[in-house]
Amino acid sequence: MGKIVIDQNRCKSCYICTTTCPKGLIKKSDKTNRLGDYMVEFVDEKNECIGCAMCAKRCPDMAITEVWR
Ligand code: SF4
Ligand code: SF4
Repeated sequence: MGKIVIDQNRCKSCYICTTTCPKGLIKKSDKTNRLGDYMVEFVDEKNECIGCAMCAKRCPDMAITEVWR
């Protein structure tokens, strides 16, 4: 199964990834980054990530790295 890591220093909080993930595993967080924007977080409690890497491909800031569990 797949897993991703989000680099919060690169993320510009555009939220493209939140609508790109076919499993809805990337969510807007209630925490803010250094720019004051809401961060995104990977939430996969049921191990649903299929490792498709669509989130990483669509992120304009290359903030998402796909890794494997
Ligand atoms: S697509 Fe990239 S820059 Fe945009 S919110 Fe997601 S991780 Fe951040
Ligand atoms: S690799 Fe695919 S399933 Fe996993 S978080 Fe990214 S878009 Fe979602």
